[in-house]
Amino acid sequence: MLITKPDYFDRFQCIAGACPDSCCKEWDVQVDDVSAELYRNLPGPLGDRLREVLCEEDGETVMAIIDGRCPMWRADGLCRIQAELGEAALCKTCREFPRLTHDYGDFLELQLELSCPEAAKFILSQGRPTMVTVESSIGEEAEYDAEAMAVLQSTREQILDLLFDDSRSVPEALAAALLYGYQAQNELDGEESQPFDADSAISSVQEFVKDSNIEEITDFFLSLEVLTPEWSTLLQSPSPAPWTDHHRALAAYLVQRYWLQAVSDYDLYCRAKFILIACILVRYLGGDIFRTAQLFSKEIENNIDNVEAILDAAYSHPAFTDDKILGLLLN
Ligand code: SF4
Repeated sequence: MLITKPDYFDRFQCIAGACPDSCCKEWDVQVDDVSAELYRNLPGPLGDRLREVLCEEDGETVMAIIDGRCPMWRADGLCRIQAELGEAALCKTCREFPRLTHDYGDFLELQLELSCPEAAKFILSQGRPTMVTVESSIGEEAEYDAEAMAVLQSTREQILDLLFDDSRSVPEALAAALLYGYQAQNELDGEESQPFDADSAISSVQEFVKDSNIEEITDFFLSLEVLTPEWSTLLQSPSPAPWTDHHRALAAYLVQRYWLQAVSDYDLYCRAKFILIACILVRYLGGDIFRTAQLFSKEIENNIDNVEAILDAAYSHPAFTDDKILGLLLN
């Protein structure tokens, strides 16, 4: 099996007590069965506390959040389980976070998740990330439509080329990426691959783009589940920041994370729109992009209901028509 990861992947280290946010805040942590059994049978005060705070939700064991924090979080920012029992005793969720594994059966892609502030520094500071591939003896059968996967892999390379083509401004590169997403969907649907001319694609839509206002988009995001007051405040008072190369890096991270997932349902264009909507939102909310993008990931990427609501709305919500999305990029 081949395992592909960004070259910075293995350099990530959790900064624990120095973290400006924390993965131990606000989220319920899902505890895997092996760890839940260990925790429930642990003797002593730590075991007593774990038995108090573990609960069942929808058939899963979760660590209840108390006063906005994981009850294992200590005042020095360290985890009580890790401090008393060592890292190996952490549940799978905490041991792996923010490392993501995209498992396609016969190949794996690894990625860091943007919702961790330390990972966000790696993700957003890069130009196009250098991917490294290593071979592993473990592996299973491919569990996907090979023809569709080949289209997705080659179109993913092309959209990354467009995003990092610095002959175009950042919003033009993003507009080109959206327009290319439409062509890539057609290829996934069986049309022959064709060269994509970004400049003529952009000039052909110039007369159709519509003025839009970001409030239509922020209102939609306010209608989703909101985790933190900070996110709600940002959505209520957007303050646009300049486009920068960090927005190209943000788009590339999202492409890397979501593009191949279209192999499951053949719906690539809604994912292309999701990626563009995310970049537009982060830019228009303003603030420090590292913090705003990290918060976007925490609020949206970590809530599957929110992700699905955006994927659905990409086709149906009046704020997300192509002419309006392009208007926010090109006008
Ligand atoms: S969010 Fe990242 S840096 Fe912060 S505590 Fe969690 S893993 Fe460590």
